[in-house]
Amino acid sequence: MASAARLVSRLALVTGGGSGIGRAVCQRFACEGASVVVADISEESANETLGSLPNDHRGQDHMAAVVDVSSKESVKKLLTSVQTCYFQPPSVCVNAAGITQDDFLLNMEEEDFDRVVQINLKGSFLLTQAVAQALVACGAPKGSIITVGSIVGKVGNIGQANYAASKAGVEGLTKTAAKELSRFGIRCNCVLPGFISTPMTEKVPDKVINKMMSLVPLGRMGQPAEVADVCAFLASDESRYITGESIQVTGGLFMG
Ligand code: NAP
Repeated sequence: MASAARLVSRLALVTGGGSGIGRAVCQRFACEGASVVVADISEESANETLGSLPNDHRGQDHMAAVVDVSSKESVKKLLTSVQTCYFQPPSVCVNAAGITQDDFLLNMEEEDFDRVVQINLKGSFLLTQAVAQALVACGAPKGSIITVGSIVGKVGNIGQANYAASKAGVEGLTKTAAKELSRFGIRCNCVLPGFISTPMTEKVPDKVINKMMSLVPLGRMGQPAEVADVCAFLASDESRYITGESIQVTGGLFMG
């Protein structure tokens, strides 16, 4: 996709910005003119992303921040530091922080279920709530909150009861947030990737990847930039009449 400039003078907060899809979203948003807050649990990887961001548009100013999205305290601190730095809340937020802790349902430990739900689902709730509260409090005219779900939340996946539940959850969260927040000009949408080449999928055995690829009509894994392109559309005014929606980015893996 040719680089557009649809996000000039927007402030965007991206969790999980230190790696994979979140990093690609930061890069895409920066190319389109946004100032980007790269937020991640790892300071080192957030700084690495920060160092890769272009600064070609006037007034662009990026920062890196550490956050544990599963902690309300940490999310609150993040929003305070963003507002102290920029004198405004982010008008774009992407919830891309996420983890897997796979095991078969019959063996899955309670802790592994809880941790995945806490980061993937509760983390998206905490960020969505904090960003929405800040936007409403300052009377911002518009906002776009994007949550990275997964096709697995729609169709399930062997070994991922916790992950599938968390990703189905973020769709319900997003639809409800979209209904409640539309009167404040805040849109909420999900992007549902299929199999994307990132550190997260490096853990998946080749045998499983090959089997999945045979089911993908476009015949290959997706790239993080291909998910970021859809996030940029949802962040921009080009999607101004879209809210409560989930857009699949799967190479056609599941249609229906
Ligand atoms: P990734 O490369 O592992 O990136 C996830 C990032 O989130 C990492 O930098 C990770 O840090 C960070 N993170 C983990 N726990 C966090 C926390 N508590 N607070 C803040 N940041 C935290 O994975 P990815 O593939 O880009 O995944 C991004 C999102 O896309 C996730 O929500 C994932 O579920 C979703 N997704 C991915 C795929 C795929 O095929 N890759 C498919 C569907 C959906 P550490 O590395 O230090 O843990």
